[in-house]
Amino acid sequence: MKPKEILLNTRHEDDITDDLGDDHVASSYDTPLRPDAFAMSDEEKMKKIEGHFREIMNIMGLDLKDDSLSGTPKRVAKMFVKEIFSGLNPANKPHARLFENKYKYDQMLVEKDITFYSHCEHHFVPIFGKVHVAYISSGKVIGLSKINRIVQYYAKRPQVQERLTVQISKDLQKALKTEDVGVVVDATHLCVASRGVGDTNSKTGTAYFSGKFKENQTKNEFLNYINSK
Ligand SMILES: [Zn+2]
Repeated sequence: MKPKEILLNTRHEDDITDDLGDDHVASSYDTPLRPDAFAMSDEEKMKKIEGHFREIMNIMGLDLKDDSLSGTPKRVAKMFVKEIFSGLNPANKPHARLFENKYKYDQMLVEKDITFYSHCEHHFVPIFGKVHVAYISSGKVIGLSKINRIVQYYAKRPQVQERLTVQISKDLQKALKTEDVGVVVDATHLCVASRGVGDTNSKTGTAYFSGKFKENQTKNEFLNYINSK
């Protein structure tokens, strides 16, 4: 990410298609994957990544006979496929079970400060921070841990923060069967902090509001709650 991208990208649902189309950044909020993305098994992928990563280390002049380094290619391959990029595979998508809203609670529900770790798709270094989610029940509710799992699933991909925000929002709308969803993401990008301009203080904010969350009163109630200590 370039430093000029550090701003609050408050985006409404209607803007999305236009926005992305004009930017030539991406054609939609979907992660750009090839149709054959999962033709290989995880095991085959790990074998190949291990070989290629060994070669990268070799090219950099590292001695792979060294005890400390010899297992690194295998560890990196496993970490890519099974951990930090496991959210690329739809097989790992969490199933959101809905419950009847027995208490007839029809106000806003906020889950704030969900910690996430993702990776910038431009540099493959960490993006990390907090996701804040709010929704108004349409008669169904979802377990709080499920909201957390949905966040983690989309975080475990090479990402840009804007897309992560939209993907979480869209999936929550689908899972909760409501348009009334708000998502705010506050993140630190190590590609900005630890390299490039070396700015260690800046944070990037993105937000997505749909349904009732486009109305100022609802939006402000959510934002005030996030900002309260
Ligand atoms: Zn980056």
